[in-house]
Amino acid sequence: MIHNFNAGPSILPSSVFEEASRAVLNFNNTGLSILEIGHRTPLFEEVLNEAVSLVKELMQLDANKEVIFLHGGASTQFFQLPMNYLTKDKKAAYLDGGVWGTKAIKEAKRYGQVDVVATSKDKNYSYIPKDYAVPHESVYFHYTTNNTIEGTQMHSIPALSMPLVADMSSDILSREMDFNKFSFIYAGAQKNIGAAGVNLVIIDKKFLEKSSSSVPSMMDYKQHVSNGSMLNTPPVFAIYVCLLTLRWLKQLGGVAAIEKINNQKAAVLYDTLESFPIFQLPVPKEDRSKMNAVFTMQNEMLEKKFLDRCNEENMVGVKGHRSVGGFRVSMYNALPLSSVTSLVDLIKDFGNKYA
Ligand code: PMP
Repeated sequence: MIHNFNAGPSILPSSVFEEASRAVLNFNNTGLSILEIGHRTPLFEEVLNEAVSLVKELMQLDANKEVIFLHGGASTQFFQLPMNYLTKDKKAAYLDGGVWGTKAIKEAKRYGQVDVVATSKDKNYSYIPKDYAVPHESVYFHYTTNNTIEGTQMHSIPALSMPLVADMSSDILSREMDFNKFSFIYAGAQKNIGAAGVNLVIIDKKFLEKSSSSVPSMMDYKQHVSNGSMLNTPPVFAIYVCLLTLRWLKQLGGVAAIEKINNQKAAVLYDTLESFPIFQLPVPKEDRSKMNAVFTMQNEMLEKKFLDRCNEENMVGVKGHRSVGGFRVSMYNALPLSSVTSLVDLIKDFGNKYA
């Protein structure tokens, strides 16, 4: 058995892999592969419609929200959003909480003025910046809800008057939140939603109205919405995998149910790490991510030994991102609690041996 702690693309439910495999050979007993049906056929329209309605249901979105699937992954939203909302005389506010937020800021600067209201760069993004003021004339306020690389997460929604925009790539659907407070949410699918190659975008109708109509069609949110994610050929297989994952989540009891499991996973892992001084946790308790736990060891030799032990025990994806070092354990929705408890057993064993 392999324990998959990869940061993304990452583990998906095994039932999703099985059903997706079957659909490649014979989709819904049609005798056709999901890869060869036209996207404008009723067969695929049903897939897309059900995926959209499951997103609305699971996230409890109100009637003012539009849900679309777009190409390009989250990085495309880094520029598509400001391309639609900023001009040289307009300003947007950004929170610089990690590597991905920094990339979003860089792209936004191509289109308009960017106010970086706070940053945690001084400590290698190991905490969530707090106590900042956001200019009220900002067209929007952008932040990353979960910093995948640094292992930090914002546990509350900022109380601000301007439209809220969030990159939720690495924690969407993992915890209950009032998603209706956001004017714009985007997330690459390859962690909690499904397969890589598609982006989930949720836009409030009022915010949508303010988007530009003079951008290229493929960048135009209004056209994507009015064409129901079918402005061109959508990534049909990736969307199908999203549908299967969304169905799995619903069957499990939805976001509230998965949040309970995610809380258990994070608690047992962090508690164990804290009980052994050979492990260091760079992120203060209140900012720790329940999706990506980051930890280091002072001794490089020990780090290597720990990684070897993980390899021996079929634990993959635990090596930290090169910018942080150490280890990163990703615990997305589909990672079972049993994988975390297996890792916890290894940590205890290792911690006792090298204490
Ligand atoms: N934002 C966050 C928070 C991410 O974790 C990632 C990818 N790991 C991205 C953006 C970039 O996503 P993509 O590779 O889909 O463009």
